[in-house]
Formats: sequence, structure tokens, C-alpha cells
Amino acid sequence: MKRFIAGAICSACQSIDRIVLYENKQQRWHQCILCGHTETMPNSDQSTEKHPSEQIKIIQL
Ligand SMILES: [Zn+2]
Repeated sequence: MKRFIAGAICSACQSIDRIVLYENKQQRWHQCILCGHTETMPNSDQSTEKHPSEQIKIIQL
């Protein structure tokens, strides 16, 4: 799936209305069609919170 996000601003080149949203079963991500900058958008906040805590456990061991 691929769709434009109206009014979205690229955090890299500040272009407006050049951000495309890609989506599959695993994740969503944005890509700027102007500069190619990509940003992943995790489907749930919980999954992102798990990763740092796993890294902390590895460091403690
Ligand atoms: Zn850009």
C-alpha cells in the first residue's frame, strides 16, 4: 500500500506534501519522494518500548 499524506512535512528537507506512507503487515513507514528520507512508524508503542529494555538486560548480563 502506498498513499500520500496531505500536509506532511519532511523532517530532512522540509518539503510539504512530498511524504508517501507505505504500509505492510509488519510496519508502516514514511518516505520523502524528494530526498528519499525514510521514517519508520511502529504499529504500536508497546513494541518500541520492549526493545530498549531488552538492550538494557543484555548490558546488565
Ligand atoms: Zn525530504
